[in-house]
Amino acid sequence: MIVVMKSKSNEEDLNEVLDLIEEEGFEAHLSQGVETTIIGLIGDTAGKEQVKSRLQAFSSVEKVIAVLDPFKLTGWKFKPEKTVIKLDEVEIGNGKPVVMAGPCAVENEEQLMTTAKAVKEAGAEILRGGAFKPRTSPYSFQGLGEEGLKLLAQAREETGLKIITELMDLEHLELVAEYTDIIQIGARNMQNYPLLSAIGKLDKPAMLKRGMSATIREWLLAAEYIMCEGNQQVLLCERGIRTFGEETRNTLDLSSVPMVNELSHLPVIVDPSHGTGRWELVNPMARAAVAVGADGLIVEVHPNPKEALSDGPQSLKPKKFAQLMADINTITDSLGNSKGSRWPSAI
Ligand code: PEP
Ligand code: MN
Repeated sequence: MIVVMKSKSNEEDLNEVLDLIEEEGFEAHLSQGVETTIIGLIGDTAGKEQVKSRLQAFSSVEKVIAVLDPFKLTGWKFKPEKTVIKLDEVEIGNGKPVVMAGPCAVENEEQLMTTAKAVKEAGAEILRGGAFKPRTSPYSFQGLGEEGLKLLAQAREETGLKIITELMDLEHLELVAEYTDIIQIGARNMQNYPLLSAIGKLDKPAMLKRGMSATIREWLLAAEYIMCEGNQQVLLCERGIRTFGEETRNTLDLSSVPMVNELSHLPVIVDPSHGTGRWELVNPMARAAVAVGADGLIVEVHPNPKEALSDGPQSLKPKKFAQLMADINTITDSLGNSKGSRWPSAI
């Protein structure tokens, strides 16, 4: 249920409404825009006609809308302004694509520091690197664990880059949250609901990758699991889905970007590395992602892809990554002001 306040209502009016919402056992999510103040009721409001009538009785309330669509917190109805995730001066969702780059896995100090410095110099703002790796085979390199997290923190210290790393299970939640700026939830864990609910209780941005066979609806509902626990700082990441081809690792579904922008205020990041599995395709798909309205990219970069312990074939060498940055800047510039206000009616 959503309460739209009258434009002339004041703080006292708002507090009265918030008190009633609390009294009725719901949590209120406030969205104060320039023109309108909207309050979303978090909790199951189905069949609560009496609550609706009580709210409608306030003279300060413009209208009360029952939200029937499933995207209660991710959808535009609930929050008619684009979500911007802020990490100090880095802003994701403000119209200018933000690039996250780094190795698939943190392997050692030299590999990480060399990569971090190179991606920083090329213009990336966030360093990626897995410390806990969800590998298809149990015999493949599984990541350095806490040692990897420490190296990421060291790289942040030395370069000023923010960091993103994957959390694989509840057991490591506190540990990973302590080190990272953004928690990555991998494709394989998109429907790990206890993990999503636990992240929902944190005050830390989370990037939810699309499951490899997930529909857009399932992906957004997974984001609802995080948001309904209170954490509104969610980023979505399109990383390709399984189809029939063998030439690419996955099929990068770029149509999901404008589709999600139609349905949701959450920023969307595109991963052309896992999306294709081939370094030659990363630059063209990155350019395309920015052109269709992605709020950012996550790209795998390795100083020596041939020796990489994971995902070498899809990793860019630093020089090729610098070229990618230059190319996407050209696309961003050519889009001009048409980016930044991409919610449905504005397209
Ligand atoms: C990764 O980002 O390294 C990764 C494992 O991605 P995904 O969960 O999309 O497979
Ligand atoms: Mn990888």
